[in-house]
Amino acid sequence: MTNLKFEELKLSNELVRAVKDMGFEEATPIQSKAINVILAGKDIVGQSQTGTGKTAAFGLPCIDSIDTENKKLQAVILSPTRELAIQICEEFRKFLKYKDDIKVLPIYGGQPIDRQIFALKKGVQIVVGTPGRIMDHINRRTLKMETVKMVVLDEADEMLDMGFREDIETILDKIPEDRQTILFSATMPKEIMELTEKYLTNPETIKINRKELTVPNIEQIYFEIKERTKVEASSRLIDMYNPDLTVIFCNTKKRVDELVEHLQGRGYFAEGLHGDLKQIQRDIVMKKFRNRTIEILVATDVAARGIDVDDVDMVINYDLPQDEEYYVHRIGRTGRAGRSGRAFSFVVGRDIYKLRDIMKYTKAKIKLGKLPSLTDIEEAKTNNFIEKVKSVIEEGRISKYISIAENMINEDISAIEIAGALLKMNLYDKTAEDIDFEDDIENNSDTLVRLFLNIGSKKRIRPKDIVGAIAGECGIPGKSIGDIDIYEDYTFLDVPKKYVKDILKGMKGKKIKKVSVKIERAKSKKL
Ligand code: ADP
Ligand code: MG
Repeated sequence: MTNLKFEELKLSNELVRAVKDMGFEEATPIQSKAINVILAGKDIVGQSQTGTGKTAAFGLPCIDSIDTENKKLQAVILSPTRELAIQICEEFRKFLKYKDDIKVLPIYGGQPIDRQIFALKKGVQIVVGTPGRIMDHINRRTLKMETVKMVVLDEADEMLDMGFREDIETILDKIPEDRQTILFSATMPKEIMELTEKYLTNPETIKINRKELTVPNIEQIYFEIKERTKVEASSRLIDMYNPDLTVIFCNTKKRVDELVEHLQGRGYFAEGLHGDLKQIQRDIVMKKFRNRTIEILVATDVAARGIDVDDVDMVINYDLPQDEEYYVHRIGRTGRAGRSGRAFSFVVGRDIYKLRDIMKYTKAKIKLGKLPSLTDIEEAKTNNFIEKVKSVIEEGRISKYISIAENMINEDISAIEIAGALLKMNLYDKTAEDIDFEDDIENNSDTLVRLFLNIGSKKRIRPKDIVGAIAGECGIPGKSIGDIDIYEDYTFLDVPKKYVKDILKGMKGKKIKKVSVKIERAKSKKL
């Protein structure tokens, strides 16, 4: 099915005008398929990934089904998080540009309930909220479900993951049965099917398959690197491409915190977003990112899910996602609404197999790239700077500075010298590490040191026992341990040079599988 024009859908003129004003040229696949079905009053189950335009898919027909004469609550949208509820509301308000007789309100925890009650009393036809807070209002009788005609479960899988099942069921039980029920989800686990069977009536299933999902306009590149060069590699990509907004994904909260610290240490405006942060802290971070106070957001998948920030120019998969579907979610953050974007992935050792799975799953071409060298970056920075200088000259209003320059020239300093010195002051980068990265990546075997361990397969030792013991006793990342060759009575293993001291010290007098071990530098080098 080809994408439809908004005029071809049975939407009101006011909505068609509003989406045009928003820059939507045509309906996305999920919108093309879902809108008329919802307008016809049918229940639907819609499945498509992040970034495919689900909000408008249910939002536009929802708005057109509201009776503007009736000021009572008519539609309820359930959403997993407060950020998402706010975003949906903001999007609805844009849709409502030419329909100002419909009121929509976000309802979420963390905001004073009195204020919400006050707003609700003024008459609201659509509420968008998290299940918990909506339950609260139902219990206080400040939200009455009796008049509701439509209910939407957005990101249903996420709501279930967050433990909202009971609340959702209670809410659905309170809404009259002749309502229309719409469920959207990125994935369709068993629990969702159960919910669908129980609460939807002859639903039409609309699924956008993966091929239609692949996000256009995105350059997808991967780099084969070592774990310990990831920070440097991230910095280089940022310096090279000079993006306004970057999202970097890590697989754990701890790694988010560590990376943020490194990036801040290098002078970047970076902050982290993960589940350990309080809601209010997360709101602050998101706000800073939206208004460009920070340029780099480092996040875990769960924390970033559903957050819609326009204009993300670059996504870096600092860690490859555990789950292939996450890859799609992650890179869906960039190149939205026809913009171009870049998606970079770091691949360490065995990650390459995971990357192949991702390519198979997404049918995406992810190309092997080469990280920019310091020279490339210097060149890019210089070009940026020259562009900046040109635009300052174009803008004018520099006479004050020209007279300073004239004074210097009167002191017998040439214009060229002045310009050269100013360029040096602006372009010389003290923080640039003077390591040769390419060398480090391609020829890093010399930075690994071979260790000898005095037990082997006779003691039924397995690689994971060794990795576990060393990681546990010495506090070094298990992943950093290289090849392990186990022989009958002894074992060789490669470890990064920088950890050798810690390992020799940490393993002194320790046991692996109840056997006392001795670990020392191997005598001969690995061939
Ligand atoms: P999803 O809920 O599927 O993750 P959203 O509804 O958040 O996706 O939409 C993702 C982005 O795409 C938003 O910035 C939205 O404004 C934009 N968008 C939605 N529909 C269209 C369209 N038809 N044309 C252009 N941009 C669109
Ligand atoms: Mg959405």
